[in-house]
Amino acid sequence: MTYSTNVQKMRGERKPVTFFNLKSGVIFLVLLFSGFTRLCAEAPGRNANDDGTITVVTSILPLSFFVERIGGERVSVSVMVPPGGNPHTYEPTPAQMVALRKAGLFVKVGSGIEFELDWMKRFISLNPGLKICDASEGVVMRTMSPGEHGHHDHDHHDHGRLDPHYWLSPENGRRIAVNVERALATLDPPHAAVYAANRKRLDAELEALSEEIADKLSAMKQRSFMVFHPAWGYYAADFGLQQISAEEEGKELTPAALRRLVDLAKRTGIRVVFVSPRFNTLQAETIAREIGGVTEPIDPLSDDYIDNLRRATDAFVRSSQ
Ligand SMILES: [Zn+2]
Repeated sequence: MTYSTNVQKMRGERKPVTFFNLKSGVIFLVLLFSGFTRLCAEAPGRNANDDGTITVVTSILPLSFFVERIGGERVSVSVMVPPGGNPHTYEPTPAQMVALRKAGLFVKVGSGIEFELDWMKRFISLNPGLKICDASEGVVMRTMSPGEHGHHDHDHHDHGRLDPHYWLSPENGRRIAVNVERALATLDPPHAAVYAANRKRLDAELEALSEEIADKLSAMKQRSFMVFHPAWGYYAADFGLQQISAEEEGKELTPAALRRLVDLAKRTGIRVVFVSPRFNTLQAETIAREIGGVTEPIDPLSDDYIDNLRRATDAFVRSSQ
């Protein structure tokens, strides 16, 4: 049995409904009155493409990595926030809204990132048959601690805010993989074994990556690092480092806040200000100049998940030498 016929059978859409067929007629009426007709009418095979593959849309590129690795040839993946896009502010294009209608599965970050807070309800109401995978399920969320900010003159509403950037911890990556595998297997049971095998292979790689990173970082004497956008808190927590972040809520820093960050960096011996590539780095460069240091890019949104964490790790190690 092919995947698409299987899905259609599950959804009960294959049999033509006629009023001469009492049983189908009753099912038809029940569906009609429970308000599911719209869903069924536009749904035939919508979770699978004609060739049986599943179109998966993710919010951010790191999630696409997991879907591609676990789904393999069974999936075609596209991302909402494109390279260079900012998931804290991004708005989908009309073309993306149309393309979403072909998707069988949406994988969301699920940790309160602004893009999803603003748009998920809309995605679901426009595409009632779309299955949603919450990549954060089972992840223990951390709060942004006051100490992570280099300045303390802002209002305190912000403290205790959940940190949405959980995907940058490889241990959480293993959790994401579990969630993605479960979603794909539920949508496409005949290939559950393929997804399980792919997930297992990836899990071993992520476990090895964790060990490799811990090993590399163990030599670091300077245990804190300064990053403009606070995306590396889970990574830091995993490996016993301290993230000092400059930016909050995407706001421009006040001169006083800049001054305090410069003082803090000088006190702690920090010489590198890490920045997200492709984002405005003027204020980060100001800090770097004041401390006689440099800015250096590390990417929180790479689709090259494993090598990217390796590169970031190497950058942290270099910055402490
Ligand atoms: Zn962010």
